[in-house]
Amino acid sequence: MLKDLFIGLSQNQFLNSAAKKYGLKLGAQSVVAGTNIEETIKSIKELNSHGISCTVDNLGEFVFKEEEAIEAMNNILAVIEAIHEHKVDAHISLKPTQLGLDIDYDFCLGNLREIVDRAKQYDIFVNFDMEDHGHLDPSFQILDELSKEYDNVGTVIQAYFFRAKEDIQKYQNYRLRIVKGAYKEPAELAYQDKKEIDRNYIKLIEWHLLNGKFTSIATHDHHVINHVKEFVKRNDIPNDKFEFQMLYGFRKEMQLELAKEGYNFCTYVPFGNDWYGYFMRRLAERPQNLNLVAKQVFNK
Ligand code: FAD
Repeated sequence: MLKDLFIGLSQNQFLNSAAKKYGLKLGAQSVVAGTNIEETIKSIKELNSHGISCTVDNLGEFVFKEEEAIEAMNNILAVIEAIHEHKVDAHISLKPTQLGLDIDYDFCLGNLREIVDRAKQYDIFVNFDMEDHGHLDPSFQILDELSKEYDNVGTVIQAYFFRAKEDIQKYQNYRLRIVKGAYKEPAELAYQDKKEIDRNYIKLIEWHLLNGKFTSIATHDHHVINHVKEFVKRNDIPNDKFEFQMLYGFRKEMQLELAKEGYNFCTYVPFGNDWYGYFMRRLAERPQNLNLVAKQVFNK
């Protein structure tokens, strides 16, 4: 119930625009690294000082105006320049709908090419985040297109989709982030039961660890993390074949602990004013995150 409510709220265009005007509110400031590049680089440097690398996301999605998509592209290009200039350990995560996927396929492809090309000049990796099912095929298609020219691209496999096993086999030679999946998807396309999603998640991670290129295991679930630790030990999978990833501001102590234990660790660092959809999805995933809201409302 709560999950559906927050996912519904995450897609509300009116609230989204209102939120942009009012700055970081409702506790979002504890899970968003900053509103501008300067603050974000500072957060990245702090994480890097603990041996944690970062993937930076210029917040925003489901953009329907060309000028907004161009603005997003320019922001991402500026982040790439800042990563290079400050020599921080970071790469880019982006959402194709922010770069115009709902406006026009070729327009979006052009924007993504410009980003991937600039990143390639500095040897920076670009990850295409995966969104809801309607955007899956065109996002994969853009990835196919760009990987003919560039090797610094990768994407995400969402374990709740029935098609995930097929996709992971197809993209075996890519650096892949594997997640459970964050959107509300129909029962014809995706597992709905948490146990089934978790089971498929583990299967996909194991498969890619054994057969794939580099694996990013993106989860806050300690059961999964402990399972992976055992699995890599049992199968002699070296640390340089995988990393754990978590979102900025979540399970901070566990993030530091995993890095200290010698695992590669990468924090997903979102920044910017377009925080609303991202934050609502975090509330949908874990209603306890409402604590963040409560603290902000009552700790005036
Ligand atoms: P859950 O299934 O939410 O939780 C499992 C258990 O873990 C909980 O029952 C609890 O015991 C424990 N737990 C979880 N969170 C906490 C916490 N904060 N504190 C204490 N215990 C906790 N989704 C997409 O669809 N596309 C993407 O591109 C994408 N990219 C992502 C990138 C990163 C780095 C991460 C971390 C997630 C991403 N997601 C993405 C979201 C993902 O699909 C899940 O919706 C999200 O991670 C929640 O699932 P979970 O695996 O973290 O654990």
